[in-house]
Formats: sequence, structure tokens, C-alpha cells
Amino acid sequence: MTLTEKDSQYLWHPYTQHKTSQTPIAISRGEGALLWDENGKEYIDAIASWWVNPFGHSNKFIADAVYKQLTTLEHVLFGGFTHEPAVKVAEKLIEILPKNQQKIFFSDNGSTAVEVAIKVALQYFFNKNEKRTTIIAFENAFHGDTFAAMAASGISFYTQAFQGMFIDVVRIPVPVKGQEQASFDALTNVIQNHNCAGFIFEPLVQGAAGMVMYEPEALAKLIQICAANKVLTIADEVMTGFGKTGKTFAMDYVSEVPDMICLSKALTGGTIPMAITTFTQDIFDAFYDDDINKALFHGHTFTANPTGCAAVLASIDLLQTVEMQANIERINASHLEFQKKIENHSKVITARTLGVIFAVEIKSDSEESYYGSMRTKLYNFFIENGVVLRPVGNIVYILPPYIMTNEQLQKVYKTIEEAIEMV
Ligand SMILES: *Cc1c(COP(=O)(O)O)cnc(C)c1O
Repeated sequence: MTLTEKDSQYLWHPYTQHKTSQTPIAISRGEGALLWDENGKEYIDAIASWWVNPFGHSNKFIADAVYKQLTTLEHVLFGGFTHEPAVKVAEKLIEILPKNQQKIFFSDNGSTAVEVAIKVALQYFFNKNEKRTTIIAFENAFHGDTFAAMAASGISFYTQAFQGMFIDVVRIPVPVKGQEQASFDALTNVIQNHNCAGFIFEPLVQGAAGMVMYEPEALAKLIQICAANKVLTIADEVMTGFGKTGKTFAMDYVSEVPDMICLSKALTGGTIPMAITTFTQDIFDAFYDDDINKALFHGHTFTANPTGCAAVLASIDLLQTVEMQANIERINASHLEFQKKIENHSKVITARTLGVIFAVEIKSDSEESYYGSMRTKLYNFFIENGVVLRPVGNIVYILPPYIMTNEQLQKVYKTIEEAIEMV
């Protein structure tokens, strides 16, 4: 039996309707921006394996740091204990995060980072004896698949089976060009009519919605409205963090600071599942009390896993090298050139770029659903041509590892151009 056959006997894949989906491709090796399947076929990983892998597959520098940590202290419980890798991660992050971020809380994935932020927003007001239970989120947001994260997510595909079972979430429009005022007005209106605890958003780029982009000035204005009404702001940088937008964090473009930040995905360079939620001193202080009931009773068994922390430290070291920063700029310049070339194509609605993120919307005769027929056609074409891209409906996006070569990038662009001709 091949790996794929054994897989179909035992495994249940994410976001997959097993009755109608194709069999998965068995990948046996990865190096740099490349992956190889069990038959030796080569693929360019143009989406950094779901946005986690900026420094290339099987990165030696991170692997060495992880090996060293595994043979020194692989894990120790974080309740009642601490260790150097966790302290170093905290020191490093506090140094590079927006200035008001002072406390670091570890968990395991993007959804739990969001779950922690939402619970903290709700308990912050509980601890202050204020009744505030509504969370504000954007339309078409994606914040993860655990319950509170899912409640905040607006993509119906992911949440329709659970409607009516969620915490109270009210949605406002994304302030894309031309919609800014509608978004500001909606936020003001929601705050006036609900007891709002927090506002969660993907800063500047909504990833899972299809790399929908909006301007830093608009986000600054939304944060100002929240601050004036003491609504806590949560920047979900799970996708945007660690260089994707061209700066270390998307919030680095914004003149206002959020109360909390969620980090995961590229945090460990795509090696070990880990997440972090960061907080202001003011938030921490609302839980700091003689009364044990005011503590944050949230934790995960592998909280602050030292091996994960070692991967974080190595990843941040890599991100901060002159070479990696130059790579980010190189890819951005290359995307902008491709955007110019393609945005006037008769089959293209629009194209956009921020940092290493590029997206193009392709014209379609029918309303394209998230996993619709155009998406399947495009996906299959890319795979046949040895390029890993996962279109969202009629939107094709690239989010490459920063180490992707110019030659590999050109092959990705060429394959996208051919795909546009094909559909
Ligand atoms: C991927 C993602 C999440 C969820 O992260 P998981 O690790 O998949 O749980 C949350 N927020 C954003 C913005 C994401 O892109």
C-alpha cells in the first residue's frame, strides 16, 4: 500500500469533505522553498505551508537550536516553574513589539492565542464589576476554529453548524477603500448599543478572506474610537506577524497601539506549534489581586514548551538578519512588478500587494464560493504544474517563504498567468 492509500484508511484531514475531495499528496522531504512528494515530484511552496514557514523547510539554523534545547531541557511544566528560553522569548518580544505590550502568555496555536485574548477581554470587565460581554469583529474575519475564535470569525463556511451557540459577537464592515466611513459609523453604533468588551481584527490584511487589505489610517481611527469608549482592542497578528507585511508586525504601520496582540504561525519559523498572546500592564493589573478568583484560570499542558521557545528565538534571529530583511524587500519589489503587469489583464478584477503578500482576483461568470468549481480548477492546475497555491474562491494569493529565489518566484508568476488564461 502506498502512503496515500494508508492515509485514506485512517486519517481525517482539516477542511476536507472526504467523499468528494482528491487524495492528499504525500510529501517526503522539504528544503528551502521546495517540497518533494513520495514519487520525487517537486513543488514550490508558494504559500509557506499555510503562512508558517518564512525561512525555508528543514532550516538548519532552527533545527540546531531545537536539537540543542531537546538535549538540554525538552519540556518542563510552566505552572510553578520557569526557564531561560521562556524568559528570553519574553525579553525579545517586548523589545520588538509595539511599546505598550508588557506581558506575554503562551499557548499552542493561533486559535488558542485568540481564545486567550477574548477570555481576557471578557474577564477584564468581570474583574472590574462592569457588565461588558459583546465582542466586535470584522465581516469575513478569520480568527481560528476553537469556540470563541470561531464565534469571532465571519466566514460562514467554518461556522454555520454552530450558529446560536456562540458568545455575543457583532460584526462591522472592513474599512476597505471607499468603505472607511461606513466602518467607523458601524463601530460607533455598535458601541452605543451594546456592552462591548473588545474589538478583534486582523490588522491591514484579512488572510483567510482572500488577503483583503485596508489602510493603517483607517485602523488607527477604529482603535481611537475603541480607546475613547474603553473597548479593548485585539490585534490578531497570527498571519501578519514576523515580516509578512514588510514590517515586523502589521501594527508597526499603525499610529495607534492595540491592548493585546495574538501571535503564532511564523512564530517558530514553521517548526513547532506554539502561540503567544501579549498584553498591556493595565490588563495584567486587572487580574493582579489578593482575590484568587481574579486570576486568569487558563492554561495548556505544553505552555511555554522550552523546545518551542528555542525555535522562536532562532526564528527571530533569522528574521532580524540583514539578509532576511533584504529578501522581504526583494520579494515585495518583485510582487509589485508582477502586479503592474497583470492588473490590467482582461480577466483580472484587481491585484494587490503588501510586503511579501500578493493577491489577484480573477473574473468569473458565476458567484464563486470559497471551495467552488473555479477554485478546484485553479488548485489542480497549480498542483499539476508543481506549485502549491490554495486559491480562495476566485482569489489567488502568494505568500512565499522569504528565502524563495527569483527564479522560483518567476515560475510561480508564470503559472498564475497561465492559470488565468486557462479559466
Ligand atoms: C490561522 C489563523 C488563526 C488560527 O490559527 P491556528 O493555528 O490555525 O489555530 C487565527 N487568526 C488568524 C489571523 C489566522 O490566520
